[in-house]
Amino acid sequence: MITDNSRIPGKVVIFSAPSGSGKTTIYNRVKDLVDNLGFSVSATSRPPRENEENGKSYWFITVEQFMEKIKNDEFVEYEEVYPGKFYGTLKSEVEEKLMNGINLAFDVDVHGALKIKRLYGENALAIFIQPPSIDELRRRLELRGTDSKEVIEERIKRATYELSRSGEFDKIVVNDDLETAVKETYELVVNFLNA
Ligand code: ADP
Ligand code: 5GP
Repeated sequence: MITDNSRIPGKVVIFSAPSGSGKTTIYNRVKDLVDNLGFSVSATSRPPRENEENGKSYWFITVEQFMEKIKNDEFVEYEEVYPGKFYGTLKSEVEEKLMNGINLAFDVDVHGALKIKRLYGENALAIFIQPPSIDELRRRLELRGTDSKEVIEERIKRATYELSRSGEFDKIVVNDDLETAVKETYELVVNFLNA
C-alpha cells in the first residue's frame, strides 16, 4: 500500500450518506459533468437489486469469497455495514488507477469514508449527502421500491447513527431539492479536483 500521498497523482472524492439519501442519484448526475472521474467498484456480499450489474454497481460475491479476500489482504477497507452484509473497497480498483492519475469517486458507509479520508488526507474530499429528515428518507426508500420492509427498517435504524457522524466530513450537502444538491456537489467536486 502506498502511504506517501504526495506521490499519488490521482485524487479521491468520497460520497457517503444513509441509504436512500440520494447519493447514487447525485453521483450519477455529477460524474457526467466532470472529466477524469472514475468509480471504485466495491465488493459486497449483499444480493444484487434488479437493476444492478455485476462489475458496475458492485462486484457481487459470497460471504465465503469475501472472507477469502480479507485473508488475502485485498481490501483498502471493509465493513459489515448491516448484519451479515459485507462491503469493501478493493485495492485492485484503486491503487493502479490513482497512480496513473485517474481521480476516483467512492460510495462508502461513514466508517469506510472516514478511513479512506484518513488514508489519503489532503488528496481526498469527503462529502456527506444528508436527507432532509428521517421521514423523507423512509419515503424515498419506500418509493425506490428496491428493498423489502425489513431491509428498509435496517437502513432507517442505521441512519440515525450515520447522521450523528456527519460533522466529521469535509462537506455536507443537504439533498432536499435535487437540482440544488447536484449543483452544490458539482461545484465542490470541480473546485477540489482543479485546486
Ligand atoms: P442512495 O444511493 O443514497 O441509497 P438513491 O440515489 O438510490 O439513494 O435515491 C433514493 C431514492 O430517492 C431514489 O428513488 C431517488 O430517485 C430518490 N431521490 C433522490 N434524490 C431525491 C430528491 N432530492 N427528492 C426526492 N427524491 C429523491
Ligand atoms: P447499498 O446496499 O445501499 O448499495 O449500500 C449500503 C451501504 O454500504 C451504503 O452506505 C454504501 O455507501 C456502503 N458501501 C458500499 N460499498 C462500500 C465499501 O466498499 N465500503 C464500505 N465501508 N461501505 C460501502
